Amino acid sequence: MTLGSTPDHPIPVYLLTGFLGSGKTTLLNRMLRHDGPRTAVIVNEFGDVPIDNDLFKVDGTSSSLVETSTGCICCEPGNDIESTLVRLSNAIDDGEVAAVERVVVETTGLADPSPIINQMLIASRYSLGGRYFVLASVITTLDALKGEVTVEERLLAHKQLAFADRIAITKADMLDAVSSTRRSAIDALIARINPAARVFDVCDRLVQPEGLLSEGRYAPDASRHDIMAWLEAESPIKKAFSSTQASQWLPGNRHTDVYTTSLILDAPLTSEQMLDFLNLLHDAAGDRLLRFKGLVALVDDPERPYLLHIVQGIMHPPERLEAWPSDDRRTRLVLIADGIDESALNGLLATLKPRTRFDRARSELPF
Ligand SMILES: [Zn+2]
Repeated sequence: MTLGSTPDHPIPVYLLTGFLGSGKTTLLNRMLRHDGPRTAVIVNEFGDVPIDNDLFKVDGTSSSLVETSTGCICCEPGNDIESTLVRLSNAIDDGEVAAVERVVVETTGLADPSPIINQMLIASRYSLGGRYFVLASVITTLDALKGEVTVEERLLAHKQLAFADRIAITKADMLDAVSSTRRSAIDALIARINPAARVFDVCDRLVQPEGLLSEGRYAPDASRHDIMAWLEAESPIKKAFSSTQASQWLPGNRHTDVYTTSLILDAPLTSEQMLDFLNLLHDAAGDRLLRFKGLVALVDDPERPYLLHIVQGIMHPPERLEAWPSDDRRTRLVLIADGIDESALNGLLATLKPRTRFDRARSELPF
């Protein structure tokens, strides 16, 4: 019997959530073993510049199908989980994709898991594009450094943690002795918000990350009033009849004040230009810069780009790659900002554009 051909034999779908920069893509690479089941990986990105796909290849796995979808999977019609799985199913029928044994959907860090889970719980009763899928697990990454503050301050991060049945604690290896109290704060946070979830500390050598993708069937805990209320609010019938709530379902409204901006450059930058930019950005934006991802070509060796990550104001050590991850050798910067003046941020980005001779001549004038 082919997997997915009947409701009793569905294709498992794993939802991977977790706030911006909490290490989802890194974890995904570690969970997928080359000799593991054939997996369709759907990476949903926030922003127009496809960069996560390249970051994924940097970390390297090749046995799986990776598809990138832009447009938020939690709130953009036509890009929701049902439509995505129908597209996958059609691609298998058309022979564009070989049959898969499981699906992993990596959401954007800003995705609200409740509409996605709600849709999957309903959709598992009928076929999508002729195949049956079931939600096997909701996995959430929780950053040991920033996770506690993020979950306390942001409802989306709180919901991501509350809905998970498997929690992956990431970056625990970045905690030094001084911040070991943070680790106990993380444990207390989980005990308070989601005590029933299975917890994996993925920095622990004894923990096998692929265990996060073990078999299962996601079922929301009916005794938990918070998650049942959030799921209830997503009910299609309730939405259809509630005019007061209707405005909340417009695309984009789940992510007020958060926007994304990006820059693509054909020519390499000088290291001074990049450092000046990063310093200005840090001073101006602080932790309101939720996320910065960059692949940057510098003039000293444009064939070996830098990989830059900033997460809520904290810069990770820059990594120099031995080669570009794909044929696209342009410098690409993607920024996700919360409440920062958009024109000011774009003005700052514009300082990275190569100056024209006229501009340069003007800026060299002594007045
Ligand atoms: Zn959304």
